[in-house]
Amino acid sequence: MAWWQEKPMRLVQTNLREIDATLDIDTYLQSLEQFSANVLLFNVGGIVANYPSELEFHYVNPHMQDDFTGKVIERVHRQGMKLIARFDFSRLNEACALPNPEWLYRSTEGNIVNYNGQVHTCVNGYYQQEYSLKVLEEVVEKYPIDGVFFNMHGYVTHDYSYNYYGICQCASCQKRFLEQTGHNRLPVKEDSNDPVFRDYERFRTQTVKELFQRRVAVVKNRNPHIAICNYTHEGTDIYRKESNTGIDRALPEWNYSAMENVKTVLGSWEGMAVSNSAVHFVDFAMRHTAVSPHLTALRLAQNMVNGAWLDYYVIGTLNNQDDRICFDLVKDMYRFHKEHEQYYTNLRSLAEVVVVVPDSSNMYGSKKELKGIIRLLAENHVPYDLLHDSVLESPEAEDKLRRYKVLILADQRSMGDGAVEAVDRFVKMGGKLLATGFTSTCDAKGHPQGRIRLPSLGVKEYVHKPKVQGAYFRVRESDKVELSGFEAIDLVYLYGEALECIAEEQATSLLGLIPSCMFGPPEKCYITEETETPGLIANRYGQGAAVYLPWGLGAHYDKLSNHGHSRLFMAALRDVLEYRQPILTTASPLVEVTFHETQGSPRRLISTVNLSGQLGTGFHAPLPVRDLRFTVRLERKPARVHALRRSADVPFEYSGDELTFSLDELELFETIVIE
Ligand SMILES: [Zn+2]
Repeated sequence: MAWWQEKPMRLVQTNLREIDATLDIDTYLQSLEQFSANVLLFNVGGIVANYPSELEFHYVNPHMQDDFTGKVIERVHRQGMKLIARFDFSRLNEACALPNPEWLYRSTEGNIVNYNGQVHTCVNGYYQQEYSLKVLEEVVEKYPIDGVFFNMHGYVTHDYSYNYYGICQCASCQKRFLEQTGHNRLPVKEDSNDPVFRDYERFRTQTVKELFQRRVAVVKNRNPHIAICNYTHEGTDIYRKESNTGIDRALPEWNYSAMENVKTVLGSWEGMAVSNSAVHFVDFAMRHTAVSPHLTALRLAQNMVNGAWLDYYVIGTLNNQDDRICFDLVKDMYRFHKEHEQYYTNLRSLAEVVVVVPDSSNMYGSKKELKGIIRLLAENHVPYDLLHDSVLESPEAEDKLRRYKVLILADQRSMGDGAVEAVDRFVKMGGKLLATGFTSTCDAKGHPQGRIRLPSLGVKEYVHKPKVQGAYFRVRESDKVELSGFEAIDLVYLYGEALECIAEEQATSLLGLIPSCMFGPPEKCYITEETETPGLIANRYGQGAAVYLPWGLGAHYDKLSNHGHSRLFMAALRDVLEYRQPILTTASPLVEVTFHETQGSPRRLISTVNLSGQLGTGFHAPLPVRDLRFTVRLERKPARVHALRRSADVPFEYSGDELTFSLDELELFETIVIE
């Protein structure tokens, strides 16, 4: 088995500045040991060569005295660790760049971008296409590295100050674009309505992929034991992700970021390791100050309980940080993982619910729908997996779906014919489907088709309803026979676009649309028009069943977390689709629960992560949560139940097919092991 597949590792990325080349290697290695790291992600080449490169245009670090990389690799291996070599070919030192203008990116005005002496290169120029391969060859032949990581692989149109320079207009891009598409001009605006730009988007994807494959081949042909680590899945062994903050990003912070990142990789690509970085700093411009230590710890806990790698990333080294507040927490998490890594190895999720990540529908804002649904599942303690929508389009889709009882499509507008067929067959064979928003109304490329393409949803036709104020769905007495939890709620609001559907004969229409009612002075706040247009359609299909909410319930929850939307979602799952949760708990909605087994053993693991430290933009220490009771469906009486974090046995009861136990207190996280 490849080294990166054997167990989850503990990676530290010291993203070195050129002045760090003079560091004391003993102290550097000691710091990694103090953090219990067993993988080092180390800058080897690209922006600067941290080794004596013999290539004329590979800019050798002027601060380096001898073979920095060689010495570090030797010591890292002596310490029993692995080293992943980092390369960044997106920019080139001006000393090497300016003599080679045809290698460089050109803005729409025809200018190069020189940022602090680093000049942007072009994907299609000689440097990235050929010279970068020579650099890789030199390193792979010279050093026994364990992995490679390519930073900023692809087309870079912004600098680090987030200034935008436009689509590259260099001669290499013009030539290749003409060869591949027949267009004699490159687009200058990123406009999806421009057919030339749509061709450019495909060109961009294909050229990035092709270059990546060539880089991978250079490495793997020389040594197949070198892991490829990258921000993409194809040709990758270790999928690197980041949980980071951005100063201008919409708030609040997405507190399930690490969960989303690792679950997407683990749920989608078999055998791929996932290393989701807990990024230390605030943003590019604040790289010497750290985010809250509790945010870093939360990210690490979410990685760990899913069986992903721990990954912590700083600029500089662990010895020269100006903000070290999180160090004790990070060391503690890494130490805990080192002592208990066997429990987090070979995990297989026991989630019965899978949500498709609607990446190809992002231009419609479907990410908001996904986030709302992730939070609804987490807050209601429903264990779930995530499946990237590219997998839904692949031949593996049916095999993947077969493992689950419930499939959720979150405003999954873009769907190819293969995906539509796979989902429909899943329902026909007895699967349960919950779909929201404008699911299946577009083709694979996102072009609207004017109809619901999934027959399982039971919709005959629809009319588009734009976003208006004052709209609701009435939860009528007849609806309450089907949907529980609405004793004290008769309305849920609608503030977004929707589809006014006519259901097929055999389908059941629930909830009644109130298209818009008066509001303003209290005297005029009353409802005058109610319709039979459904807010929820329930349909039996083959051996299975589907629920369709033709509006963005998840995006509504993402926005304001309204209890009406939450109850509707859970009623659809539990009452209409008859989903039975494998774990019931009295824990607060601020505690997330995951459920795993160790492959090839009867061991089960229930992990809990406490998110209660967040209020608004603040991440503080989570409040201790007390007296959590768990009831778990289990087919056998356990030999032992124990908690890893507190290192103690947990008393339990077992009767029928149910295991019950309690946790008297939960801090940030705990893993309960059922032996
Ligand atoms: Zn170019």
